[in-house]
Amino acid sequence: MSQTGKVYLVGAGPGDPKLITVKGLECLQQADVVVYDRLANPALLEHAPETAERIYCGKLPDNHTLKQEKINELLAEKALAGNVVVRLKGGDPCVFGRVGEEAEHLARLGIPFEIVPGVTAGIAAPAYAGIPVTHREHGSSFAVVTGHLREDKPELATEKWRALANGIDTVAFYMGVANLPLIRSQLILHGRDPQTPVAVIAWGTLPQQTTVTGTLSDIEERLAENSQITNPAIILVGDVVQLRERINWFESALTPGGTAVNQ
Ligand code: SAH
Repeated sequence: MSQTGKVYLVGAGPGDPKLITVKGLECLQQADVVVYDRLANPALLEHAPETAERIYCGKLPDNHTLKQEKINELLAEKALAGNVVVRLKGGDPCVFGRVGEEAEHLARLGIPFEIVPGVTAGIAAPAYAGIPVTHREHGSSFAVVTGHLREDKPELATEKWRALANGIDTVAFYMGVANLPLIRSQLILHGRDPQTPVAVIAWGTLPQQTTVTGTLSDIEERLAENSQITNPAIILVGDVVQLRERINWFESALTPGGTAVNQ
């Protein structure tokens, strides 16, 4: 039997293919098998040897191509056959990346693995929109929250909404665009000032990055006016959003003259 290989659970970064870590890149260069997601930039696959097997297991929004259990099994099976396996995930693998399930499965089978962190969209997309998620004067706490709320399984109970509305300065909602109406109304209902600035940043760090800004009270209308906003997008709530007026560097460079689409 061949010697067991190893699995690297690697963060691909938020979109711009240069935002992968040096370690992540080195893992790709050594890969025998790359198992990649929808949100990992396919340009990164060029770093893997030509002979490496490339397996797409991205989940389309409503159409899971490969169930999580199957992905877990696939990683184990390829490693047990002696391969260096890179599991390439968008952003950071530990932020809504289900890396816990994959790592647990490998640990259970005694298969060696490493987690290689990545740059997460909830920090990087705002940074490219000219919004630092913390700031000495405008934000001293930051939360990362799923906006993928299912009515049959309310992931955010009342106390959580209350905490997010009152206790956290900056909140990044992932997977939240479809639930924007619910998110904004829950935050207001639980005490957040309706004038709190909000930014919705789509395709962050990529050339097609688009940002719409507004407040909790008018962000829905602002978004409706801008059809360029499609998933993936981050909804960022907090006073730090104001900083964009002064430090919106990336989109200004994309649109000569410095006018962002939506100020
Ligand atoms: N592990 C990833 C998140 C996966 S969940 C990370 O750390 O970034 C998928 C969600 O991430 C999307 O619905 C969207 O909210 C966000 N996302 C991923 N890439 C993005 C991008 N380039 N711009 C804006 N949001 C992005």
